[in-house]
Formats: sequence, structure tokens, C-alpha cells
Amino acid sequence: MTNPLFDLIRAGQPDLTRPFLETAEGRVFTYGDLDRRSAQYANALVTLGLQPGDRVALQVEKSAEAIFAYLGTVRAGGVFLPLNTAYTGPEIAYFLGDAQPALFVCDPAQEAALVPVAQAQGVARLLTLGADGRGTLADAADAASESFADVARGADDLAALLYTSGTTGRSKGAMLTQGNLISNARALVEAWRYTADDVLIHALPIFHTHGLFVATNVTLAAGASMIFLPKLDPELIIRLMDRASVLMGVPTFYTRLLKSPKLTREAAAGMRLFISGSAPLLAETHRDWHARTGHAILERYGMTETNMNTSNPYEGERRAGTVGFPLPGVSVRVVDAQNGRELIHGAIGMIEVKGPNVFKGYWRMPEKTAAEFHDGWFVTGDLGLIDERGYVHIVGRGKDLVITGGYNVYPKEVESEIDALDGVIESAVIGVAHPDFGEGVTAVVVARSDAGLSEAAVLAALEARLARYKLPKRVFFADDLPRNTMGKVQKNVLREQYKGLYGG
Ligand code: AMP
Repeated sequence: MTNPLFDLIRAGQPDLTRPFLETAEGRVFTYGDLDRRSAQYANALVTLGLQPGDRVALQVEKSAEAIFAYLGTVRAGGVFLPLNTAYTGPEIAYFLGDAQPALFVCDPAQEAALVPVAQAQGVARLLTLGADGRGTLADAADAASESFADVARGADDLAALLYTSGTTGRSKGAMLTQGNLISNARALVEAWRYTADDVLIHALPIFHTHGLFVATNVTLAAGASMIFLPKLDPELIIRLMDRASVLMGVPTFYTRLLKSPKLTREAAAGMRLFISGSAPLLAETHRDWHARTGHAILERYGMTETNMNTSNPYEGERRAGTVGFPLPGVSVRVVDAQNGRELIHGAIGMIEVKGPNVFKGYWRMPEKTAAEFHDGWFVTGDLGLIDERGYVHIVGRGKDLVITGGYNVYPKEVESEIDALDGVIESAVIGVAHPDFGEGVTAVVVARSDAGLSEAAVLAALEARLARYKLPKRVFFADDLPRNTMGKVQKNVLREQYKGLYGG
């Protein structure tokens, strides 16, 4: 027992002939393949100079090889740092500069554009890995030995660095330890009654805590298997339901699936569990899903910094519009955001979390870390309440976060880019209810009258600066922004003004 996270995975499935991953094209990888291939990646990384504690940054498409690279990094004692595939060059430059990884892996098609970015940030090595599983990193793994003595790590050592978007425009790296990931995988296996017989339909991206840790770690810890789809494909997901048992998705998955007439009680009959998270699931979606399939979606709540915190019960009522109870080992409380006192049941306040799931802190930001903890509890930034039956409800986001299609967009970051454009005086970015994305990023811009700016011009300028999902769906122009007496922009007034914009 030397590397607790990989030990957990190894113990999950002793029969190495069992499948752990099947691709959309029907290629099957067994637990034996996982063991051999992750050993090859670990050997390759060590040969490339990786030292324990070094970061391995990747901006790669979803593939089985990317999972082997993750596990190889863990086995080699490294810190896995996945980056959203939508990030642009300037965004990548920030992450590489902040995290100082020992190596950076990108898509072969991006290599020419990203070599100077990596060099400018002092990253010594750049390798490639494509959606087809080929690239210079895969070549290095091919040439390496299939056995590897795992590098010894403790529960408190880092296993991953996941960046969250920053409210002040700067992203923060959440330091997740082996112990954080292990405790959460165990808690979820128990809470969701996961077994080696489960087959997960995995259509989430693997650069986010949902697809990487919730979906993949839970599957591996239980010795189960997953079908890896590159993206949300409702018709394919419905077809796969007769040989799968679990689906994990963001609310958008469920609204899109409901649009297909092929989603029926019969189509979903073989499924055991539908799980939703990363953004609020509308009670209406919960009801529609139940009426159509006979299944009650199990909604859970978590975040990058804490892994998963709460879940509706496997047995017992899954209450629409709530995120359920604290997971085993996790404590949740609601406090008065003004005076920090714990509130009684039913009162709305700031949600705080404590437990082995809570991260070690923000990468190289001790003050920021200290500011987000209150008496040893992590301050989530989410506003909510605990009802008389103990179910946690999330009622709003203290930080004005916009969640679009399951992705977080911090208004401040988009506003900063808009404000930097010629002729712009100021801007406000809000989330407006959107039937497909949950919320649509919407910008209100105050420009100089002689600037001659148009919606198309603003969008064209932002395209090269921001990941696609952060781009406003609409840009409006106004003479000024509504403000309160303290000079703060009243985003609630803007939300009211633009509500119904996208219909639904
Ligand atoms: P992330 O760090 O990207 O996972 O985003 C975390 C944030 O997503 C949380 O702080 C919540 O605001 C939101 N979130 C996650 N799950 C839920 C849920 N089931 N209901 C409402 N909001 C959620």
C-alpha cells in the first residue's frame, strides 16, 4: 500500500479481464489494459523528468488514453491538471504561468500555436495527445515498460489541481489531495449503491470534477465500467440505455433527452439510476422525467473545491428542487452571511462545508484560502437552507455565477474583456433563464455614442479571447447601468429587465 488513490482503484476490480471502458466505436479496454497502460504512462512521465509533486497539465480531447495519462500521473506521484478544451491561447498562458507544470500536453492540431505559449511561460516540455489516442505522449508510453513500482504518496499529498474561474477575473487552482478524492469516491459508491456490475453512460467532459472524479473515480473504485461518448448525443444515449445502468449528467442532458420521442418508459427500463448535478435541476424537469420514464432523477451538489457534498437518497424520497442530505463523512451547515452564526432549519444563509472531501487550499494563494474558510468550514459561496427534514436546498449563488450548460461563467471575467474593447465605457454580464442551457450569458454594454459598436463586433472581438461557452448569447446596448445608492450595479434589475429573452 504505497499510493492510496491507485491502491483504491487496483482493489476495486481484482479480475483484470473485466472491461473498464468502452469507446463509442466499440473498442473495449479491460482492467488489465488499465494497469499496463497506466504503468507505461507513469514510466514515460518519469523518463521525461517528472518528479513527485510536479504538475502535468493537459488540454486534450476525451479519450481512453487521457484516462491512462491521468492514472499514470497519479502512479508517478504527479499532480494531474486538466484544462478545458475550449480555453484559448491567452487563457492557457495564465494557467501554465501559474501552475508551472513540468510538462504540458496538447492536441496535435494545437501544437504549433501552443509551443510559443508554453515556452513563454517557462514550461520545459510540450507533448501531444489527440482524440484518437495518438501523439508524442502516447508514443513515449508505447516505448515504455508495462510494469511500474508506484511512487509512494500519502493521503495529504496532491493528486490534482483543478482550476475554478475567479470572481475577480483570476482563476484559482484548487489543490485536491489523494485523501480528498479517495474519501469522495468511497462516499459516492456507498451512497449510490455502486457495484462492479454497473455500466455508466459517460458523456461528460473529463477536464471537470464531474466527469473526471465523480464519474470516473466512482466507476473505478467500484470496479465497474463506463461507455465513453465524446459528447452529449441524446439519441445514442437512449439507445445505450438497454445495456447500461447509470447515467450522470448536468441538467441540460435531461432537458435535451426529454425532447426525444424515443425517451420512453421501455427505453429506460433497464437503467438503475439517473444522476444530475453541477447546476440546479428544475423541479419541472424532475417531474417530466419521472412521468416519462418512471425514474426519479437523483440530484446531488458539489463543487471543484469540495468534490461532492450532498446527495438525494438512493432509498427514500428524491425531492425535486433539493440536493438532498450530506454525504457520509461530510458536514453541511447554513450560517448568517453577516454575523457567521449557524441558522436554524428553514432559514436562508451561506452554505458551509466540512469533511475529508474539502480541498487543501488554493494553489499559491494562502490569503485567498484563509478568506474562504470560516472556523474550519469552507464557505461555498452558495446560498441555501436546510429544511425540517434535513434536505439541503440551494436558493441562489452569492457570487453571481452564471451556469450555462453545466459550465460556470464568472461575469467579471467576461466584463473585463468587454470593458477592454475600444469605445466601451462599462458592461454588466448576467445569466438569463435559457430553456436549453439553464442560463444564457447575456451582456449589457454602455458604449460611447461615437464608438459605432455593434453586437456582432463585440462578439467577434471576444471570440479569440474567451472560451466559446463564456461568450454572450446576446449583447445589448444601454445608456447606463442601474445602480444602488452605494454605487453597485443592480444585476437583479437587469435580470428582471431581460427575463424571458430566450423564452421558456
Ligand atoms: P464547479 O466548481 O464547476 O463544480 O461549480 C460549483 C457550483 O455549481 C456550486 O458552488 C453551485 O453553485 C453549483 N452547483 C453544483 N451542483 C448544483 C446543484 N445540484 N444545484 C444547484 N447548484 C449546483
